[in-house]
Amino acid sequence: MSCKICSRQVKEKGYCNRHLKAYQNIYEKFEMWKKALEVTWMDYLSKISKNSLTGEWAKEVAKQLIEDDRRNVKEK
Ligand SMILES: [Zn+2]
Repeated sequence: MSCKICSRQVKEKGYCNRHLKAYQNIYEKFEMWKKALEVTWMDYLSKISKNSLTGEWAKEVAKQLIEDDRRNVKEK
């Protein structure tokens, strides 16, 4: 099985090593943001996917998560 984003081998949660790390970073930051601001997971993802300060790996993960969410909504 390959990563949802690139073609590297999956490590966990459908992501390769590097995208998994980016995902964990995103998730940890969200936990901090949530305490300070009222922000939803999707708002947060859309913010970081547009932020020029976000690293490429994290941006790719954020975009993938947004897409996953859209697909889930459609399926329901
Ligand atoms: Zn990957």
